[in-house]
Amino acid sequence: MAGAAAIELEGVAKRYGALVALADVTLRVTQGEFVALVGGSGSGKTTLLKTINRLVAPDAGRIRVEGEAAEAIAPHELRRRIGYVFQEIGLFPHLSVAENIGVTPRLLGWDRGRIAARTATLLDLVALPREVAGRAPAELSGGQRQRVGVARALAAEPAIMLMDEPFGALDPLTRDQLGADYRDLHERLGLTTLMVTHDMTEAVLLADRVVVLSAGRIVADGKPAELLARATDPDVRALLEAPKRQADRLQARLSGATG
Ligand code: ADP
Ligand code: MG
Repeated sequence: MAGAAAIELEGVAKRYGALVALADVTLRVTQGEFVALVGGSGSGKTTLLKTINRLVAPDAGRIRVEGEAAEAIAPHELRRRIGYVFQEIGLFPHLSVAENIGVTPRLLGWDRGRIAARTATLLDLVALPREVAGRAPAELSGGQRQRVGVARALAAEPAIMLMDEPFGALDPLTRDQLGADYRDLHERLGLTTLMVTHDMTEAVLLADRVVVLSAGRIVADGKPAELLARATDPDVRALLEAPKRQADRLQARLSGATG
């Protein structure tokens, strides 16, 4: 039971013309893990996430979801098993909050009563007041919209969550609160989470394991402390040391020390 795989990629590659977006990516995410996928802009993070739920078809390699070949799982079944939070939130502006949350359940043919009950549960789960259900996304704050994005991804009770820079567009306080709240949901619901972020501090604070992507290749993969102890690549070290460097500088400035 311990260590069953939720997501497996083996030798996955994807090109756009001459551009190599992913090169020979092999990654195994165990059920219940919280993994942060970190890397610079254009390193292939979004492409990697999208190969897992078949929004992008890889040119080579194998992908398994809960032990089954992803290409053998029907798209609607993948939507049920895998929640996806898009990089730019991606709420439908002309639909209400409740209608946005109900998108996947409607696709799956749930009846109205079941969708309404699930929507109420989800609003509670992501700590949004139920009265926002009838509002348009434009009538919410950025943090509230992102909570709706998380609720929508969780609607069909997926075991796996893929999140693409979910808190990237938020102010630091809101971002911190949402990150902590999501980590708590991950635990309570027993989810497997693969979260893209370009922020190493966020990765270290939220995830059990950090995977670093550079030019479509995994260049580091492990627990933050292990990576710090053994990473030799200077770019990877610089990335990993950034949170501690920042914390040290902050500490120095707040205590009035110079330097
Ligand atoms: P990241 O999410 O890490 O910023 P992406 O996975 O979005 O990176 O992109 C990886 C590379 O693939 C980038 O160079 C990007 O420009 C390119 N790319 C992504 N999607 C497409 C596409 N549909 N067509 C052409 N090039 C793409
Ligand atoms: Mg991206």
